[in-house]
Amino acid sequence: MKLSRLFTKTEKETPKDETSVNAQLLEQAGFVYKNNSGIYTYLPLGWRTLNKINAIIREEMNALGATELLMPTLVNKRYWEASERWDVDVMYKLKDETGHEFGLGWTHEEVITEIAKRYVQSYKDLPFSAYQIQSKFRNEARAKSGILRGREFLMKDLYSFHRDEADLQRFYQDVLNSYLKVFQRLGLDAYVTEASGGAFTKEYTHEFQVLSEAGEDTIFYCEKCRYSQNKEITNLPQGGKCPKCDGTINVGKSIEVGNIFRLGTRFSKAFNLNFVDEKGESKPIVMGSYGIGPSRVMGTLAEVFHDKSGLLWPESVAPFKVYLIALDGAAKEAAKIYQRLWDHGVEVLYDDRDDKGAGEKFADADLIGLPIRVIVSSKTLKEKSVEVKRRGKPGMELVPVKDIGKTLEK
Ligand code: ATP
Ligand code: MG
Repeated sequence: MKLSRLFTKTEKETPKDETSVNAQLLEQAGFVYKNNSGIYTYLPLGWRTLNKINAIIREEMNALGATELLMPTLVNKRYWEASERWDVDVMYKLKDETGHEFGLGWTHEEVITEIAKRYVQSYKDLPFSAYQIQSKFRNEARAKSGILRGREFLMKDLYSFHRDEADLQRFYQDVLNSYLKVFQRLGLDAYVTEASGGAFTKEYTHEFQVLSEAGEDTIFYCEKCRYSQNKEITNLPQGGKCPKCDGTINVGKSIEVGNIFRLGTRFSKAFNLNFVDEKGESKPIVMGSYGIGPSRVMGTLAEVFHDKSGLLWPESVAPFKVYLIALDGAAKEAAKIYQRLWDHGVEVLYDDRDDKGAGEKFADADLIGLPIRVIVSSKTLKEKSVEVKRRGKPGMELVPVKDIGKTLEK
């Protein structure tokens, strides 16, 4: 993409009404626009990153054998009444002119459980799992953490259906491993943390927590074996010995990027979702639910990967791989290099603005934080080369123009 075509612009100053680092940086660099507290637009750069996050999540969900669907956001009151969740504080409620009442979806156990009723009759229909990536709505009391805590935010929610606890347990473990893979591909170091079930379940759950001062959670964790518990439940001793190994228990603030739940028969009983086993006996289906917040993941990446000059995206989620800059009369050659890079499958953002000086272009390259900066100038062209620099790393190298596609496609 050419920067001249991007309708958004970077800002010179950090926005004054934002207190969190993720929102300050993402707004200043033109990734998000704050419409209201806890309500954000994902601008073209931010939307590209969010889609890369979603693509990684999708690949791993599909690898689990889950299939994707899209459920409604407007969820009739009868669903919430069936599960006794109409009085949950975070739900936005509305009434239409005919008097029908709805809650905006803040999670979708009720909706999918009712859908499953039509399609599952026998043990032969089990197990299965389905997920969606959708905007969720929660009337969050404290929406001060930028996109870490939205009132409208994106969630990937996966639901699974099983004949018994043992089968749920098996799949639950598969999801846990799949989540670790997702976060690793996203460049995040997530601790699998035991936590209480909150509004979802009485059983303890597993949260995926990334250490960060911006987090609203606190975890007790062992650096050695990575055993971890949320502060709200824990009886682990700070500075004491890990119960699982001979490591020491540390304490740190953290961001919850994912959470998985064994729901048991809580929702299947509420909706009479049963199956008939081999002996002809009718039994309630055992369920699990599994969430990741892609928009919170994006905010977490901004919190974890930045320096004083701006963002530092991991390559897997950067909106583009390369920031291409043409200086002093090298525009013609740069346009050719731009094309050549795309031909090699390298995603390039080309700073083709002719009214901006080198200093401003370098500052924007750092602020936007793409992994690689390529500079073409009359000086580099004298050596038939371009200058290649990695964001956040010292030093740069000259790469011959003819090799640039091959070098950067790797
Ligand atoms: P929190 O404790 O931070 O309020 P939660 O435990 O209520 O979150 P879950 O219901 O477990 O959240 O939702 C699954 C995932 O959705 C979370 O792990 C998180 O990644 C994301 N998420 C939840 N609430 C928000 C929010 N308000 N804004 C952005 N992402 C969210
Ligand atoms: Mg949670």
